[in-house]
Amino acid sequence: MQIFREIHPFRAFLLEKRLSGQSIGFVPTMGALHRGHLQIVRTSLNENQVTVCSIFVNPTQFNNPQDLLKYPRTLEADVAALEKEGCDVLFCPDVEVMYKQESLIRFDFGPLDKVMEGTFRPGHFSGVALVVSKLLHIVEPAVAYFGQKDWQQFAIIRQLVNDLNFNVELKSIPTVREESGLAMSSRNMRLTPAQRQKALLLFTSLNEAKQLLLNGSEIQKVKERISSLFKNEPELKLEYFEIVNSENLKPLECVEDAVNPILCVAAFVGEVRLIDNLFLY
Ligand code: AMP
Repeated sequence: MQIFREIHPFRAFLLEKRLSGQSIGFVPTMGALHRGHLQIVRTSLNENQVTVCSIFVNPTQFNNPQDLLKYPRTLEADVAALEKEGCDVLFCPDVEVMYKQESLIRFDFGPLDKVMEGTFRPGHFSGVALVVSKLLHIVEPAVAYFGQKDWQQFAIIRQLVNDLNFNVELKSIPTVREESGLAMSSRNMRLTPAQRQKALLLFTSLNEAKQLLLNGSEIQKVKERISSLFKNEPELKLEYFEIVNSENLKPLECVEDAVNPILCVAAFVGEVRLIDNLFLY
């Protein structure tokens, strides 16, 4: 696997690949790679001649300094995992490489970032859009791959790519879970075994809500039920449980005439903030 830390040689390498007609698949990550990330890499390997993975813990998308400080960094193990998978290229720049100067640009996605993660993590999606824009300009991939676990992020990146005419196809890969059902996340590394057990409530509550809705329960009643489940667990703190239209992220009041609703949850398990989601149908 070729590893690049600087933009110029990386661009020159990719230009040659593109000029020789090779399609580039791109998997942006923040590292601490798990099976979810590797599943995305595998998909890209199957669909492209060259697969690029990036590892960059992007400071501009962290609204909580402690979260940035404690974000797991496991570059050596990540390189080994990517090599084992057969990934072609890794781009792992330092912060100074990606941010040569302070960025002043800010993104506003209107209703897309006024709900869920956008409400609880002010500035987060502006930072995501900034780093994804930079990375797409640097890599110029034919296809960029993202995980369904961060559905709101995917909706926002789709808007970004359409609004700014990035010449890239976007693909979303289904969430990879532990056997227990817990969505894989780099932040899971920070959970104690007991907390990992407690964290299962995110997934079980999504499933319970889905069943209730399919059986005809009203959204408000379902939300109250989920909220009470979290209140019974002192180590968990529910931030939101929303049922939204998966296209425009509008919170729904009833599911009957909604287009492809998605259930989304965010909660703290101790100090670790986790998210998960599930499509209703
Ligand atoms: P991150 O390193 O957390 O920024 O994630 C990098 C990419 O991997 C994002 O597109 C995530 O949505 C995706 N991802 C994270 N966790 C999972 C998972 N459990 N299954 C599938 N994709 C994931």
